[in-house]
Amino acid sequence: MNPKILNSIQNIPSKFIDNHFDGALDAVSIDSRSLQNGSQTLFFALVGIHSDAHHYISELIENEVRNFVVSYIPEGCEAKANFYVVEDTLGALQEFAAHYRSLFDFPIIGLTGSNGKTIVKEWLNFLLSPDYNVIRSPKSYNSQVGVPLSVIAINEQHNLGIFEAGISARSEMQKLEKMIKPTIGVLTNIGSAHDEGFLNLKEKIKEKMSLFENSKIVIYQINESIDYAPFAKTKVFTWSFTNKDSDVFIVKNTHVDQTILNVCYQGENFDVNIPFQDEASIENAISCVMVLLYFKYDPTIIRNRMQLLYPVEMRLKVKNGINNCNIIDDSYSSDFQSLKIALDFLESQKQSDKKTVILSDIFQSGLNKDELYSKVADLIVSNNISRVIGIGETISEFKDKFANCVTYTTTAAFIADYENLDFNNETILVKGARSFQFEEIVWLLEEKTHETVLEINLNAISHNLNFFKSKLKPKTKIMVMVKAFGYGNGGFEIAKLLEHHKVDYLGVAFADEGIALKNQGIQLPIMVLNPENTSFSAIINYQLEPEIYSLKGLRAFLKIAAQKELKHFPIHIKLDTGMHRLGFEADTIDELIATLKGNENIKVQSILSHLATSDDVMQEGFAKAQINLFEKMSSKLMDELQIKPIRHILNTSGISNFQDSQYDMVRLGIGLYGFSNDLEEQKRLENVGTLKSIISQIRTISSEESVGYGRKFIANRETRVATIPIGYADGISRGWGNGVGYVVIKKQKATIIGSICMDMLMVDCTDMECKEGDAVIIFGENPTVNYMAEQLNTISYEILTSISQRVKRVFYRE
Ligand SMILES: *Cc1c(COP(=O)(O)O)cnc(C)c1O
Repeated sequence: MNPKILNSIQNIPSKFIDNHFDGALDAVSIDSRSLQNGSQTLFFALVGIHSDAHHYISELIENEVRNFVVSYIPEGCEAKANFYVVEDTLGALQEFAAHYRSLFDFPIIGLTGSNGKTIVKEWLNFLLSPDYNVIRSPKSYNSQVGVPLSVIAINEQHNLGIFEAGISARSEMQKLEKMIKPTIGVLTNIGSAHDEGFLNLKEKIKEKMSLFENSKIVIYQINESIDYAPFAKTKVFTWSFTNKDSDVFIVKNTHVDQTILNVCYQGENFDVNIPFQDEASIENAISCVMVLLYFKYDPTIIRNRMQLLYPVEMRLKVKNGINNCNIIDDSYSSDFQSLKIALDFLESQKQSDKKTVILSDIFQSGLNKDELYSKVADLIVSNNISRVIGIGETISEFKDKFANCVTYTTTAAFIADYENLDFNNETILVKGARSFQFEEIVWLLEEKTHETVLEINLNAISHNLNFFKSKLKPKTKIMVMVKAFGYGNGGFEIAKLLEHHKVDYLGVAFADEGIALKNQGIQLPIMVLNPENTSFSAIINYQLEPEIYSLKGLRAFLKIAAQKELKHFPIHIKLDTGMHRLGFEADTIDELIATLKGNENIKVQSILSHLATSDDVMQEGFAKAQINLFEKMSSKLMDELQIKPIRHILNTSGISNFQDSQYDMVRLGIGLYGFSNDLEEQKRLENVGTLKSIISQIRTISSEESVGYGRKFIANRETRVATIPIGYADGISRGWGNGVGYVVIKKQKATIIGSICMDMLMVDCTDMECKEGDAVIIFGENPTVNYMAEQLNTISYEILTSISQRVKRVFYRE
């Protein structure tokens, strides 16, 4: 039990409806899907643009939650729990966190800036944890919701906090300041990210700096554009490469595989080597050196620890594994907070009910070991984990706390026994502290394919979904089209994510796509756009819902429905209003009505049509005529059959351009994957897919020599040529070769030279620094798929869906 939770909730102004459920509060939650110990949880019902956690309260009461912070009490729940009624539940959560924070009195480092916050936080944690019990924000929890959740995880054993604060608009920082109340401030790199929320750079810096209003000290790089006047009580501790008036003056020397920083502080000089050469990492590392100096660490210790810095991996990656397993790779950190997050992610991505966790010793929890591993064991149980494989001396010691658990004292011991562990048809979370080198385990478990991958950003998908949801009226349902393997991005993983977001329907083109999803455990209703008559039986067996578009199809389906004695089986009636592809035409409506009338085997679940020109403002009139005809035909069906089905006609560009015709549902497709034909809207969508490969080989050819089949490229100077293992068999059009297209290597454009081969292509890398093994971006942020489509005279849809299935998809979440 944590008395500070009760103390903090009682401290915020609210109307308390006390129904005398006096359980000991021990946890705070905002997410109904990932609850750990129901009866001890205080639940804040947050309200988003398109989600309202109040809807889940009765479900949560069934799961024994008895204490809620709400803005209203849902009907029927009045007497079943305690309620703290407030006006604004997010505001209450923030006030709660601010009070909770005030009950602790130890140094807290607050980080803000445009870039580098999470990396500096992770590095400081690494550098300081030998001497402190550190509490830090998990992953990049730095928002208006993330910060309170991070702060609430502080407990009695911690003696140093590291929290990051991120803002995208004016006046957000004040709220974060109240919750973090940093005593030590660090301003990391100020770039141009999120500039749109601010008038100018100066205002952005001022706003960010307000995090440090009550700090004792602020650490930052002197920068001519930072016109910063510290707060009265705040001292500054500055560094610079150029300004000798700074407290710490730094000279950097970049070498092939490291950078040497010469640090001059209080008249003394010493060197620090860091294993990075890029500017961002160097600045982030210096922020860390500054904190260590402020903590009065000896240069020898600073040097020893800094040289061990490592690249921070903030993503949880999902990979295909051996024997039909899938793997969630979180092999870079192990602390209690991030374990919770990883287990939630495991649940949202599991492909079978068998869930395995490979877990190293857990560090820096601030709890004693016995308490810690009991908590871990509870977490494992409440997440229905099938088996635990523990690696490390401490976790081995507490093996008995876990059911179905094997342990090894070292990673090497696990690897030696790996063959006997029989990994098969399961979802495996690999989670360990860096020192355990779990990347070796991931490598063993991973399905081996070649180096070309399509990386799918699941956060971006969520972002895009929410963007389009925000355009819908409150009652409008949403169907998401995941046909053609989720527009090439991956069927199951995306469907699973959409299920998590509680969309209303999925749409696929063919029955087998729907069957695959159902077989993998997707429970959302699935409409099949293009069912063949031969697939009706399977459709029924798998509870898929057919789109019916002709009398012939309808009769065939009704026949099977009668044979199987179905009752009210959902079907979807497609009307042809002008697309002239599939659907009932106006002159068949009477016969359609006659055929459907009185039939109890089926139920018209929805009526739909599809717009031919929704993306083209020049042809708005045509779309409007389609909508009018849809209104007429569907009304007639509804009147004469006395039914109230879901009606829907808008696809992605329809959502953008015909807001008034949302009817009861819309069908989102390409927009989910990050594409809009409206320029303004395009800017607000996030890129989902990045197609990546590597450089296999580099050679230099002389002027007059040629490259590739047919000698289509002849060098006119000495040319460096890089070969990349991706070709037209992977879905890269040959039209993209011979100087038309380019790839990006280390942020630089490299033109594709010569013809694209079946499995390879060659680029000119004469004027850039790169080496064999370097990563190559084929498309993503640059070049964009839209740009490629334009150059190739096609549309984004075709490029996405052409990427061959042999290209491995890797899903990740930031
Ligand atoms: C593919 C498809 C959609 C989605 O279209 P987008 O343009 O990708 O949004 C909607 N409805 C039907 C019938 C479709 O075939």
